[in-house]
Amino acid sequence: MMAAPDKSATQHLDVPWRKTFRRLLAAAGASGGQLRRSLFGLSAAAATQGLALACLVPLFSAVIADRDPKTAIAWLVAMSALSLAAIAIRWRAQGFDYSGQMSKATHDLRLRLGEQLRRMPLEKLQDRRSGEINATLLGNVDENFSYTLIVSDLIFTALVTPLVASLAVLFYDWKLGLLLLAIFPAIIPLYRWRRPVHARGRRALDDMHQRMNADIVEYVQGLPAVRAARRSGERAATLKHTFDELETLQTVEHRASANPNVIIASIVEIGLLVVVAAGVMLVIIGQTEIAVLAAVAVMVSRFAEPLATFVTYTVVIEMIEAALDRIDLLLAEKPLPRKLPERQPDGAEIRFEEVTFQYMKSNRPALENFSAILPPRSLTALVGPSGSGKSTIARLLLRHADPQHGSVRIGGADVREIRQEKLNALTSVVFQDVYLFDDTVLNNIRMARPDASDAEVESAARSACCTEFIEKLPEGWRTRIGDVGGKLSGGERQRLSIARALLKDAPIVILDEPTAVLDSQSERAVQTAIDALVRDKTVLVIAHRLSTVAGADRILVLDEGRVIESGRHAELLAANGRYRAMWDIQSQTRRWRRAEDALATK
Ligand code: ATP
Repeated sequence: MMAAPDKSATQHLDVPWRKTFRRLLAAAGASGGQLRRSLFGLSAAAATQGLALACLVPLFSAVIADRDPKTAIAWLVAMSALSLAAIAIRWRAQGFDYSGQMSKATHDLRLRLGEQLRRMPLEKLQDRRSGEINATLLGNVDENFSYTLIVSDLIFTALVTPLVASLAVLFYDWKLGLLLLAIFPAIIPLYRWRRPVHARGRRALDDMHQRMNADIVEYVQGLPAVRAARRSGERAATLKHTFDELETLQTVEHRASANPNVIIASIVEIGLLVVVAAGVMLVIIGQTEIAVLAAVAVMVSRFAEPLATFVTYTVVIEMIEAALDRIDLLLAEKPLPRKLPERQPDGAEIRFEEVTFQYMKSNRPALENFSAILPPRSLTALVGPSGSGKSTIARLLLRHADPQHGSVRIGGADVREIRQEKLNALTSVVFQDVYLFDDTVLNNIRMARPDASDAEVESAARSACCTEFIEKLPEGWRTRIGDVGGKLSGGERQRLSIARALLKDAPIVILDEPTAVLDSQSERAVQTAIDALVRDKTVLVIAHRLSTVAGADRILVLDEGRVIESGRHAELLAANGRYRAMWDIQSQTRRWRRAEDALATK
């Protein structure tokens, strides 16, 4: 399906360049002043060049009509001085590019966007496709800046130079000056007619590129899974469909922009011919000197090309605007507000008080009036069918989002009153999917506590049963994960993640049942690591298999965002309710698995 142009796509069609200019300066951050000076410098260089060209008129008059060498030399010197000044000013203005300011501004903007990703509510971040974020941080930031000076220079040379030269001719010969100036009122309506076509096309292409980026990233990331499921053909077909859509869009865009561009170029060329023809007539009827006409003819041949093609360059402005829109959209996301005054949690008791929460893009609450107390150093398990709200409870505790009603408290303090860094320090999470960075094994564990010594990291790894497999890696602790990433088993990755949590030693531990996807041998090793991790901690386990939570201090059975049963394993079995039914089904499945395993080993 073709992406529908969003509101902002049409909104910016009538926005003058002035606004683009201001947004660019804002995006340049600390380098904004430099960029402004460079752009003013470029327009001043173009104007100075216009004045230099205008010197041709008195110069030709002095040489051809008056045969006055002294005046001619004076004008020649003036023209050369102005031309040299234009070169010097342009050279200096472009310093923003060649002195590294441009790369710095681009780098700073990327850092700002990176920081924004860190601060923005995770719920909002997870709503965006990673490929799109990647396209904004790389493509859009570069589009935003890389072409700014080049395209501005082209546009100033196309417009400012002829405008200033024509105004100067006006003083010398008002009739020819007016004729030259008449070209501009013709160009501006043409440009205004052209611009929305370019802007719409550019925006649709930009949307398509973002979507394609996200599709490609997801295709590559999901390739192992789709190959395993023998679905790679289907996924490739989906990607090909996106490529086909892009081709269609590009064809439409090229067709839409090519004809009007040719029309504008022709009108400008014809207009300039009319100026020369009118000049010839003025000479014939004795209203203008031949020398002035000769100078104007030289000027016209100099203006013709840039003037005729300037509309083509303006497409880059549309690209810059589309990039700025995306960047602004990302920067506009506010972090979750902190309730003041700040409070320090007293202990590690967790309380959910009548929490109701609904995701932005959902039409029903994921949690409704959820209340629970998790005493310090207790283990609470959340069980329930898929979509019942288990992960949502963990996300609210980690403050990925705030509930619409009720509160989540740690040690008596509402999580909204706790600084995010403090909250991060209070909690460790072990997810099913372990994310490892392309760094050494040692540093992958150390990221949980950057100031930890090698000995502390190794001790955490030992408690998490990691030493045995780490020491077998090609370079032991110094092996880069990128070199072996795919070769680590699910259980080994889990244990590295548990080692991180052990090293962090946070008083609260959230486990998104890490043993659910492991074989029985890995499961035992991971379970030993978990036992070491949860000792003396307030633990919340998102359980997919009931066998692993039988020892929990309290089990909360969830359904459609509500607690339907709660108690210890034995109590819940005795109650003969939903938990009992789930337990019976899972016990049956376990018996079948064991029977299958026994048959397989016979
Ligand atoms: P599972 O066992 O499958 O992980 P769960 O019990 O953890 O499920 P949650 O992930 O908490 O369930 O989801 C609770 C409800 O909220 C579900 O209906 C789910 O579709 C919805 N939901 C979860 N994440 C989002 C999101 N980012 N946007 C919209 N709805 C969401």
